[in-house]
Amino acid sequence: MRPPFRGLKMLKKILIANRGEIALRVHRACQEMGIRTVAVHSTADASAMHVRLADESVCIGPPAARDSYLNVAAILSAAAITGADAIHPGYGFLSENARFAEMVEAHGLTFIGPTADHIHMMGDKIAAKDAMRKLNVPLVPGSPGALESFEEARAIAETIKYPVLIKAAAGGGGRGMKVARSADELEEAWQVARTEAKAAFGNDAVYMEKYLDRPRHIELQVLADTHGNVVHFGERDCSLQRRHQKLVEEAGSPALNAAQRDALGAQVTAGLRQIGYRNAGTLEFLYQDGQFAFIEMNTRLQVEHPVTEMLCGVDLVREQIRIAAGEKLGYGQADVTFNGHAIECRITAEDPESFAPSPGRVNTYHAPGGLGVRVDSALYSGYAVPPHYDSLVAKLIVHAPSRPQAIARMQRALDEMVVDGIKTTLPLHRRIMADAEFQSGDYTIHWLERFVAREA
Ligand code: ADP
Repeated sequence: MRPPFRGLKMLKKILIANRGEIALRVHRACQEMGIRTVAVHSTADASAMHVRLADESVCIGPPAARDSYLNVAAILSAAAITGADAIHPGYGFLSENARFAEMVEAHGLTFIGPTADHIHMMGDKIAAKDAMRKLNVPLVPGSPGALESFEEARAIAETIKYPVLIKAAAGGGGRGMKVARSADELEEAWQVARTEAKAAFGNDAVYMEKYLDRPRHIELQVLADTHGNVVHFGERDCSLQRRHQKLVEEAGSPALNAAQRDALGAQVTAGLRQIGYRNAGTLEFLYQDGQFAFIEMNTRLQVEHPVTEMLCGVDLVREQIRIAAGEKLGYGQADVTFNGHAIECRITAEDPESFAPSPGRVNTYHAPGGLGVRVDSALYSGYAVPPHYDSLVAKLIVHAPSRPQAIARMQRALDEMVVDGIKTTLPLHRRIMADAEFQSGDYTIHWLERFVAREA
């Protein structure tokens, strides 16, 4: 029996308001800290692995996410019935919902994440950019705030020059984002972005950014405790994307050196200290021609957090829980070390060529293993992947002393992995890892789309 975790606030039981691999990820950290877990699930997930492994579970509604994993009343009731002390939201679902964070605390529970005010501020990308401007963090050139009219959009596009990008203030998951390469395309981009933003987020506020033609997506992981200590864990390179969605992530970036990482990290941690940020956060930047430009901040754990954990030897979920319990980080920036190289492949239940969803029963599941291989997945043989949720079914993460060794290890692990019965993106990942250009490390956010088109 592990001794129970005693932070300043005793956390004995945590409700995990999520599903799939991330619910398992949080459960595992809790187990090692001697904290009991409560799983919540929809009727479609009754036999899911996160439900099987948790100490207790509560059904919170029918399959549709809005009736279950987004059902705040059902989740808070589940916490009350089971006597949970805290809620970990994982990523997606309610993790960046400021109102949810507020209600959790109003019910006397601990929200494992930032304050509702910071979630609210960073959830509005225009407000987030404003905050970063004040902290002297460099931004992508664009409109100073929301675009009030098409005429304003046209005037700003003339100043910053085409191509430009219209983006939803409430955006996420690449939705509500449209490129205009010339004045002729602006009106359509403006209309489509606003319509998509309204439909997806119920908010049609949009802003404009210069569309960078060959940036890398570089993001910085931070942790802040409630005693003013802020530390960063270096960068992740998430440039390998399809439709603005990440597929492969690396830590560190093949394009940065330690001095660049330290400089960016120092600037960001100073800024977050100034605004009193707490818990985990990720600042996303585009990086081109030696310049960083902030695009958004995510006030939660990211899907790709394991590459940072492998690189720095840190358990970010454990740290989130310790911070929420009021503990001090207990180490400083100089104690954070970066060893070797880590890569993550996101394996989804999709056709590797058409990307059509491929839910259904997994006949055989075999996870790879060996030195430096980690699999974060809720799959098991006989499990039926439900059609209602995100198609991510496994994250394969490798760690090795160097980038070439990490690639070789990933190739070996991908070859060992078996997910039989549904289509997955495993074959695509094998092709990416074998590609000479990927191996050279010289890629931008547009590389993968071209690679997929070339292979088709
Ligand atoms: P979301 O919140 O919808 O994911 P982001 O602002 O994080 O939107 O952008 C997602 C991705 O879109 C980025 O990683 C990048 O690939 C691309 N992107 C965003 N802004 C720009 C820009 N100004 N120029 C070029 N690409 C961009």
